[in-house]
Amino acid sequence: MLKAENLQVIYDNKTLALDDVSLTVAPGEFVGIIGSSGSGKSTLLKCMNLLVRPTRGTVYLDERDLMTLNGQSLRKVRREMGFIFQDYNLIDRSTVIDNVLIGRLSYKTSLQSLFRIFSQEDYARAKKALSYVALEEKMYERADRLSGGQKQRVAIAKTLCQRPKVILADEPVASLDQATAHLIMEYFRRANIKKNITILINLHDVALAKAYCSRIVGLKKGKVVYDGKAGDLTDDV
Ligand code: ADP
Ligand code: ADP
Repeated sequence: MLKAENLQVIYDNKTLALDDVSLTVAPGEFVGIIGSSGSGKSTLLKCMNLLVRPTRGTVYLDERDLMTLNGQSLRKVRREMGFIFQDYNLIDRSTVIDNVLIGRLSYKTSLQSLFRIFSQEDYARAKKALSYVALEEKMYERADRLSGGQKQRVAIAKTLCQRPKVILADEPVASLDQATAHLIMEYFRRANIKKNITILINLHDVALAKAYCSRIVGLKKGKVVYDGKAGDLTDDV
């Protein structure tokens, strides 16, 4: 279970980005976070693995209070939560397979990590993850040669290689056309259903959230203004 408790985030001593936000997400849920630009979606998602440290409140993953963990324990917890960015966050000049292997780094010792030493098992997992997003044939292509949708599929493969319990996706389809956005959402759906990965996803497209998420959380000016079933959502949120 992933649980945020009374999160407050104030940037630069002046911008109140999150104002007392609490959220409990059960294993296997597919939660869409919606709200206009600046409502705090990205900040909330980044608090979930402490990419942003809240000024007040805390986050629990399976009973572990993240705010109390030391660096090493926090790294272990972060491995359990894959993070997907709007702009893919790939290494442009590296090949697709090398980008996916980065998902295995959190399983390596610091020396293995420094020299990027991967085992046969790492390669096998990376290939399997690439076949999961139907990109095995692009394995040796440079990441910057791919289309936006393909890049996001690589990012998903990289995250799956990490074997996360939870995927946090920050506007993953905002740069993509409608058809590609649906394709990417389908991959999240499959990861949710087939691998039972809990998904929290920021979306500005409410229709997309309604189509794929089982639960929707609405944010406005840093506060939760809606939390319920996607089907119960009316247009005035
Ligand atoms: P959303 O993802 O819904 O667009 P954000 O979480 O990005 O919202 O932003 C919430 C508020 O916090 C906005 O007013 C934004 O300008 C501000 N903000 C976000 N990130 C930072 C930052 N790193 N430094 C200062 N202010 C920020
Ligand atoms: P499938 O179940 O579709 O045959 P796997 O799940 O065994 O495939 O592996 C596909 C990719 O997903 C691999 O790269 C693997 O590292 C990753 N993976 C496997 N099991 C899990 C899991 N429980 N959670 C997250 N990722 C996983």
